[in-house]
Amino acid sequence: MTDIVVVGSGFFGLTVAERLAEQYGAKVMIIDRRPHLGGNAYSEPEPETGIEVHTYGTHLFHTSNERVWEYVNRFTDFTPYVHRVYTTHKGEVFPMPINLGTINQFFRSAYGPEQAKALIREQAAELGGKEPENLDEQGVNLIGRPLYEAFIKGYTAKQWQTDPKDLPASIISRLPVRYTYDNRYFNDTYEGLPVDGYAAWLERMADHPNIEVRLSTDFFDTTQPINKDAIVGKIPVVYTGPVDRYFDYSQGALSWRTIDFEQEVLPIGDFQGTGVMNYADEDAPYTRILEFRHLHPERDYPTDKTVVVKEYSRFAEEGDEPYYPVNTPEDREKLTAYRELMSGEKDVFFGGRLGTYQYLDMHMAIGSALSMVDNKLAPLFGGAAEEP
Ligand code: FAD
Repeated sequence: MTDIVVVGSGFFGLTVAERLAEQYGAKVMIIDRRPHLGGNAYSEPEPETGIEVHTYGTHLFHTSNERVWEYVNRFTDFTPYVHRVYTTHKGEVFPMPINLGTINQFFRSAYGPEQAKALIREQAAELGGKEPENLDEQGVNLIGRPLYEAFIKGYTAKQWQTDPKDLPASIISRLPVRYTYDNRYFNDTYEGLPVDGYAAWLERMADHPNIEVRLSTDFFDTTQPINKDAIVGKIPVVYTGPVDRYFDYSQGALSWRTIDFEQEVLPIGDFQGTGVMNYADEDAPYTRILEFRHLHPERDYPTDKTVVVKEYSRFAEEGDEPYYPVNTPEDREKLTAYRELMSGEKDVFFGGRLGTYQYLDMHMAIGSALSMVDNKLAPLFGGAAEEP
């Protein structure tokens, strides 16, 4: 007998399922339409090389949330991996995010922090206080034309398939520039990668006698028993699939960007010397190249082969995987209408990236799932709701 159904086995769904099973003794059924557990965080070894490839793009774990860090450490240890990103611009490689190293390399200079700040301030004053009317002007206004045009303009145009002059200024409110040589990508207290890989971590979360997992099972497929029509209103549901799909797109489809991944095994031990290389210019059609061996330097990977993945960003069409919410004013209007509908669904709890139409890092998905258990789900299983 199932007490609750969790739709989607990403970090949100798994966290809810694990907590309800372990803490409240609930019998949980997780269904996922994909043939594997773990949502977008899933990874598997590339068969020819054994190199762990993150199927849906590199996933770097980082958090400053003590509760989340304590929770995730129940299922995995973490390597001391620290993420750094580089970018290729006009045949030259620069460290990212823009820092004193990037600035001095770009301007062929040896500025200290104060001189660099003065230079960027002067270059960013080009518009003379005029309110930026589009993303292009906003970029110039934030970091000055030279750095914006070198590192942001082409990359943004590729990401959005749109000239930044035709994009709203509101897409970026800040562009971080560090006036030190620190090129650590994340600023969080904790960072690392799961020692045995993501799949092992995700499977341990679901490995509980009270949890049953059904893969390749779509919640909207009425030919299988655990579907929306059959169970909503009869048994509580935590839904982490796309919110517009749940309501049959009645308020219109929400827009997403997707990524096409092009994977290759190369007959060399090392292609680019780092895990992620961005390509800032528009003449390279991809936005980034990932090389997965560099995420686990501690592993005994083959020295004569490597796996690289090129990423191409574009707007998602019907049937594509939704990755990043586009979040136009029309999307926000539709979301408000969907939120109204959500509040009318008795005992259906919407969560996660797709269920709430927002980009969530893994630690955010886990943190918000822990809060949903505390505040909304615990009372269903005899626990007291915590004050939000
Ligand atoms: P998901 O992982 O998307 O899981 C949702 C699940 O629901 C999926 O498995 C899906 O198959 C299932 N589902 C959907 N519809 C149905 C249906 N009708 N029936 C049954 N099942 C259904 N986070 C980081 O912290 N660091 C990173 O470096 C990072 N990189 C990322 C890179 C990319 C390209 C993307 C897209 C995300 C990245 N993330 C990263 C974010 C991370 O993947 C997510 O925040 C996290 O996995 C969200 O978990 P979730 O459970 O909300 O959603």
